[in-house]
Amino acid sequence: MRTLSLTLFLFVSLFTLLSCSSDQEVVNIYSGRHYQADEELFREFTRQTGIRVNLVKADTDQLINRLELEGSNSPADLFITADAGRMIHAGEKGLLQPMDPVKISQWVPAYLRDSQHYWTGFTKRARVIVYDPDLVDLAELSTYEALTQPHWKGRILVRSSQNHYNQTLMASLLAALGEEQALQWARGLVANMAQTPRGNDRDQVKAIAAGVGHAAIVNTYYMGLLLNSPNAEERNIASRMKIFFPNQQDRGSHINISGIAITAHAPNKSNAQQLIEFLLSPASQRVFAEENFEYPVHEEVEWPELLQQWGTFKADTLPLDQLGQHLHQAMIIFNQAGWH
Ligand code: FE
Repeated sequence: MRTLSLTLFLFVSLFTLLSCSSDQEVVNIYSGRHYQADEELFREFTRQTGIRVNLVKADTDQLINRLELEGSNSPADLFITADAGRMIHAGEKGLLQPMDPVKISQWVPAYLRDSQHYWTGFTKRARVIVYDPDLVDLAELSTYEALTQPHWKGRILVRSSQNHYNQTLMASLLAALGEEQALQWARGLVANMAQTPRGNDRDQVKAIAAGVGHAAIVNTYYMGLLLNSPNAEERNIASRMKIFFPNQQDRGSHINISGIAITAHAPNKSNAQQLIEFLLSPASQRVFAEENFEYPVHEEVEWPELLQQWGTFKADTLPLDQLGQHLHQAMIIFNQAGWH
């Protein structure tokens, strides 16, 4: 018993010593993104401000659970997701607090951030159709909806409905088409799938090259990552494929974000605000675009060459914070349609 108390005493003293000795400013991030570019930018932030960045990377839903369990004891200041839907979900659980919108609302278009300032997008993603031009006639391509036409039977590749990107895409179709047509779309797409959904976005592109299907629903930056892969085979595959931006004649291509938010109990709130503004600055926005091939949310930032080659496009500018109300229904539709 005495040993235990002594150990406990030593532990407590050591802990106190550690926390007192470090008067360095910190900011603690829980991130569902796993990219080199992010870590490079965090190091640059520390270099410029002296604020140390502690990064916890994990699956987004695990991080949401962790924030819930930790409650007001959470060390997290910032929460990062690679999907608007998950950010909305975290907000609904009361895990976030509003940020100071003064600079952010000048830099980021309103549709890419929460109207109550609980989160903002810091990179923009387009979920598009990637196709093999030897197998698909450009005239066949128009909208997400048109992928359900019978001539696409056995030709479409798309990942599982467990994937957040597909859930948010389905929410956007619900917003645009209503329940009945969104269900018809999901059923039609399932009927045209080249295989039972498996793998990630990159795997869908590789499956076209392997002859499994002809066109895939994919986020554009995966094409950038494949084209710049250290693996020659991946570079070769990507260079044979083309990108098509759907729904250019109507609402525009579906847009998602990587989002950032200050957590409800952030111990270092002003450092968190500073890091958000740093990531939204033109210099950081350029890094996300050049190294990760994501679109800048800051509209004044010039796109790197590859993004320019893909071309400008009309984006679906339905405010992303309005997709929250459709996320639950999206899961029901996936079930009803048998999209696993
Ligand atoms: Fe991704």
